[in-house]
Amino acid sequence: MNIPFLDLKKINQYYEQELAEELKSVINSGWFIIGNKLTEFEKNYANFNNCNFCVGVGNGLDALILSLKSLNIGKGDEVIVPSNTYIASWLAISYVGAKVMPVEPRIDTYNIDVDLIEEKITSKTKAIMPVNLYGQSAELDKIMLIAKKHNLFVVEDNAQAQGATCNGKLTGSYGHINGTSFYPGKNLGALGDGGAITTDDPELASKIKVLRNYGSQQKYYNEIKGYNSRLDELQAAFLNIKLKKLSSENEQRVTIAQNYLKQLSGVGDIYLPVIANGCTSNYHLFVIRTAKRKELQQYLLEKGIGTVIHYPVPPHMQKAYNEYSFSKNQFPLATLIAETCLSLPIFPGMNEEQINYICDTVKTFYA
Ligand SMILES: *Cc1c(COP(=O)(O)O)cnc(C)c1O
Repeated sequence: MNIPFLDLKKINQYYEQELAEELKSVINSGWFIIGNKLTEFEKNYANFNNCNFCVGVGNGLDALILSLKSLNIGKGDEVIVPSNTYIASWLAISYVGAKVMPVEPRIDTYNIDVDLIEEKITSKTKAIMPVNLYGQSAELDKIMLIAKKHNLFVVEDNAQAQGATCNGKLTGSYGHINGTSFYPGKNLGALGDGGAITTDDPELASKIKVLRNYGSQQKYYNEIKGYNSRLDELQAAFLNIKLKKLSSENEQRVTIAQNYLKQLSGVGDIYLPVIANGCTSNYHLFVIRTAKRKELQQYLLEKGIGTVIHYPVPPHMQKAYNEYSFSKNQFPLATLIAETCLSLPIFPGMNEEQINYICDTVKTFYA
């Protein structure tokens, strides 16, 4: 049996007819950037995320960069961020000129260890950027309390966790301003690049609207040196269609994850994902850890099962960050996760037969 890691073709074919109609509608409107489709999507996504405002931007990285910009975070400032994340979280901090202050994760949930945050706070710290990694909410309630105590901003990197919750409140609605991504592989994926910020603060929302569009509110009048980072009409139109099914697709992922958890419990040396008290995951990814990762990945590949490593090199060991001269052991948990993690296939539309085949194959590997 052949099971790809992620079947984007299948996911999007489900919407083919509706997406085609949107394409036609956008062509016939003759309007492609900052129009009604975007306004409609921003309203819909703000509703979905239980926030007052959503502002669409070009991609998830830009959502984080513009969020930090809107808070006037830059040179001389420090931002606390997990040591284990996709590099985009770190890059956003670097691009605004601030310094990354990595904090190790919990080894069971892979999210930032809240007990280690306060010791990294200095007089230069301006913000905490929790990442809701692999789809699971970080312990955002606790993070908000720490931030309040030290008068810091919180900017959630919610690229992976659309629809996840912490104590019943959605990720992307905790921080002062939050970024998300609609990269095709995300739970809410466009047919190209896309991203958005969510916030309850009207001032921050209007700042982002100016920043994303050349620093201009009125065409050809530029108040500040802005960026070109807009979510175009076509992607917004596609996202409007796909957003309607996001919750049910997330539920499908949770069902698949529960099946994995049941079948793979106690198998070999596998560590299964753990969900923190009060948190939920949209299971953007189903990440296991094993000392035999290389062998297991190869075996699964031979049996037709696609897997991916998220991520093979932690940010502190990337060449891009050699200016900090971090050593490998400076963030041992980030390093350990990078060396042992393996993401199994999980996507809406995956059937029980496929899940059983994957689990049986994993069990055979360890037998
Ligand atoms: C995907 C992702 C981003 C960046 O999103 P893009 O749309 O690819 O720029 C940021 N942070 C995390 C954790 C991500 O997974």
